[in-house]
Amino acid sequence: MQQIDCPWCGKRNETEFSCGGELISRPQDALGADDKAWTDYLYFRTNTKGVHTEVWRHTFGCRQWFKAERNTLTHQVVNTRKLSEETGEGHGDHG
Ligand SMILES: [Zn+2]
Repeated sequence: MQQIDCPWCGKRNETEFSCGGELISRPQDALGADDKAWTDYLYFRTNTKGVHTEVWRHTFGCRQWFKAERNTLTHQVVNTRKLSEETGEGHGDHG
């Protein structure tokens, strides 16, 4: 069983966590967004093969949502960050 590094609690067993799916951004101009923009936002995902960013929740812990980079081929979570932090370089650095 892998351990996932919660940005608040530290490493915990993955059974304590829930995946909320791919990290997507709501259209900037929500009221002015056309049907295509809403359809893309609601229904379409990139379905990345490899590492991509998702939102996860420490459901049976602090109950906080956070970003996690997960390899879809291996299911390995390679990095986690608070939602307010940018995703990118500096893996494992979420002080
Ligand atoms: Zn936690």
